[in-house]
Amino acid sequence: MTEKLFDNGTLFAFDAQVTACAETEKGYEVILDRTAFFPEGGGQAGDAGTLDGVKVTDTYERNGEVIHLCRSSLEVGKKVYGEIDADIRIRRMQNHSGEHLLMGFIHNMTGYENVGFHMGSEEVLLDLDGVISAEDIRICEQKANEAVAADVPITISYPDGEELSCMEYRSKLEMTENVRIVTIEGIDRCACCAPHFPSTGSIGIIKVISAESNRGGTRLHIICGLDALDLIRQRMESNAAISRMLSAKPEKTADAVEKLLGENAALKKQLAENERRAAEDIIGSIKNDSRKSFCVFTRGIGRNNMQKIANHAVKLTDGAVAVLSEDAAGFGYIIASEKLPLRAMAKDINLALGGKGGGSDQMIQGTFTAPKEAIESYFKAMQM
Ligand SMILES: [Zn+2]
Repeated sequence: MTEKLFDNGTLFAFDAQVTACAETEKGYEVILDRTAFFPEGGGQAGDAGTLDGVKVTDTYERNGEVIHLCRSSLEVGKKVYGEIDADIRIRRMQNHSGEHLLMGFIHNMTGYENVGFHMGSEEVLLDLDGVISAEDIRICEQKANEAVAADVPITISYPDGEELSCMEYRSKLEMTENVRIVTIEGIDRCACCAPHFPSTGSIGIIKVISAESNRGGTRLHIICGLDALDLIRQRMESNAAISRMLSAKPEKTADAVEKLLGENAALKKQLAENERRAAEDIIGSIKNDSRKSFCVFTRGIGRNNMQKIANHAVKLTDGAVAVLSEDAAGFGYIIASEKLPLRAMAKDINLALGGKGGGSDQMIQGTFTAPKEAIESYFKAMQM
């Protein structure tokens, strides 16, 4: 069995000897007599790094042996120098140790258990088996960050059955032997197989990003350490861009957006009122003494007001009225008639005027791409 060195979470380089190497479809599975590479477990992914410069892309455990998945083969018996990708490992440990610390305070306050834990590439998901309020989350987050500042020791131990039976600790599984206990002095004790820092100071900031209801409990999205710094940078850049665009101080962007939304709503209201008045003016000026089919051309009039115009104009013709609203793409149309079978005529009308659309016998609507003159003469030439 491989001697595991990752109880010391900050051991990122070590010497070892190759005891086995087998080619597989994914790469070369290399086993060492000892390793600081952590194989995936407890929600944390396997380490990456190098063995004598040969890339290790993943690490996992099989039958008690730690398997290093390598890009090329390594000779059995060879002495190798192993180096773990420290940046990735440090970020994972910050998130993982941070989760233990936060969960410790939540458990001590509420008695809730952690019933789901997932470490993604951008955040950590933490499922609680009870509902926690925003205020209690804030209190636990504050305490966890104060414990980071206090640099509380974190220790790994393997208590025997008797010690374990009189020990209180958090655990997702019922275990009785070879239980590895991670203790954050005076705050939390949890069964866990992953590497941790020797003290909480290395975790850095612990931030709850959001919380949501989840299966009768609460799911927390959290982020710690260097990943939290990345997130803060990204959010600050985004806020700085808003601040520049709105000429508002960074801490006043929400106020500025609120003001902008208010102005936007007032403008929309004014625009709707202007459009309604323009439609009324058009309705007041429509004349069609011949009672033949005719067109009403408009601009900047929406569908609702085009409909109102059509409802009025249709009474002035024994044929059809086409209400058109010009825009960049051509014309939007509503055609109405009390006598003609518009539904059946729609295909021909669209074909003649480069259009799309349809509807009922009384009203069809859609768009034309034909120019104004073509539309005008088409309706002038209609039988009625
Ligand atoms: Zn853990």
